Amino acid sequence: MQGLRKIALVLLLGATSSAFAASTGQPFYGDAPDATHPWCVHDWNRPQPKLVDPLPYDAEKAKPTPDAVVLFDGTDAAVDNWEADKPGNQPTKWIVKDGSLQCTPGSGYIRTKAAFGDCQLHIEWAAPTPPVGQSQGRGNSGIFLEGAVEIQVLDNYNNPTYADGFACSVYGVCPPLANALRPPGEYQSIDITFRRPVYEGKQLIHPGFVTVYCNGVLVQDKTQLEGGTGHMGRTRPGPLPEKGALKLQDHGNPVRYRNIWYRPLPARTDADDAGIHGPMSVEAAAATRKEIAALVRERAAKLPDQSFEQMLGLAELMVYERTDALYTDVEQRGMAFVESVKAVPADKIAGQKDRVRSAFFAFAYLAKFKLIDAADPALVELQAIVKAHAWDK
Ligand code: MG
Repeated sequence: MQGLRKIALVLLLGATSSAFAASTGQPFYGDAPDATHPWCVHDWNRPQPKLVDPLPYDAEKAKPTPDAVVLFDGTDAAVDNWEADKPGNQPTKWIVKDGSLQCTPGSGYIRTKAAFGDCQLHIEWAAPTPPVGQSQGRGNSGIFLEGAVEIQVLDNYNNPTYADGFACSVYGVCPPLANALRPPGEYQSIDITFRRPVYEGKQLIHPGFVTVYCNGVLVQDKTQLEGGTGHMGRTRPGPLPEKGALKLQDHGNPVRYRNIWYRPLPARTDADDAGIHGPMSVEAAAATRKEIAALVRERAAKLPDQSFEQMLGLAELMVYERTDALYTDVEQRGMAFVESVKAVPADKIAGQKDRVRSAFFAFAYLAKFKLIDAADPALVELQAIVKAHAWDK
C-alpha cells in the first residue's frame, strides 16, 4: 500500500503544480516569512509530511475512559450535545447517519454546548468516498480546540496540499510529522492533548502546546501554540480563554465524525509553572514543600506521643522542612529508641529487627542528603546494631 501511495504522490506532485496555484488562489498567498518563521503561511516550499503506515484501529483503546465526557457516541440523542455555531442556540443541521455525525455542507460549523479548555480529546473522522476535488478541496473539515486552534481535517490520501494545511497540521502553523492517513471512507483515529497558552497581561506565563496522534502515529509533538490559528494569517500571540466550545468545521464536504470524547486536564497554575509535576521555579517549589511539610507535620502530630511511628514521622518532616530544633528533637528520639533496643534481652532482640531497620534507613537517608551529620550518634548506634545482627543482609 505504501509503495502505491508513494507512486501516486509523485505523479500528483509532478502533474498538478499549476493546480496548486489554483487551489490556493494565487502564488503569493499567506503571510510572508518573518524573523522567526522562515516559511510563508501555506507555503508550498515547506516539505510534505512523510508517509507512515497507520496502526490498525483498536476499538478497545478508542473507548472513552470512565472519567471522560462523551460528546458523540453515535446515537441520535448525542446530537443534543451540539448546536449550530451561530448566534442563539440553534440546532445543528448536521445529521446522524449510520452512527456518524455528518457535516451538511453549507449549514455552517457546529460547536459543543459544553465549554472546556486544557484536555485530552479523542475524535474520529472519515473523508467522503469516492474522493472529490484536490488539495484543500478534498474532504476538508477541522477540529477547532476552544473554537480557536484548528487541527486540520483533510483527505490527504494521495492528495498533496501545502504542508501547514495537511491533515493533522496545526493549521497554518505546523505541518504534521507524518502522513499516517487511511484511505477516504475509512475512519481516522485522532488523539489530542491540548494546553492553551496562558498570559498574565502581555506576559506569557505558560506556553500553549498541542500533541496529536493520527492512527497511533505521533504527528504533533508538543507543538507550541502562540495563540489561535487562522487562514492565510500568521498566529497572533495572545491568550486563549480558560474554556471554549469545541467546533467542527463545515468546509463544504460531507465529512463524518464518530466516537468523540474528552477528559478535562487540571489547570496549570502559578505554583507549577513548568507542568503539573515538572521542575518548578525556586519560589513555587518552596511553597509546595511548605504545603507537603504541613501535611506530614499534621499526620505526625496525630500519632501516639513519643511513639516510634511519631519519630519516623518527624524524620520524614525533616525531608521537607529541616530546622535545627526539629533535628534535635528527632535525634533525641532516635537515641531514646536506641537505648530501648539495647535494653531488650538477647532472646527477644529478633522482634526488634523491622523497627531497627526502618529507623536505620530513615537516619541513613537523612545523612545521605546531608540533613543530618554523617556521624550522627543515633545513626552510628543504629548502624552498629544492624551490623551486629547482620540485619543489613
Ligand atoms: Mg479545515
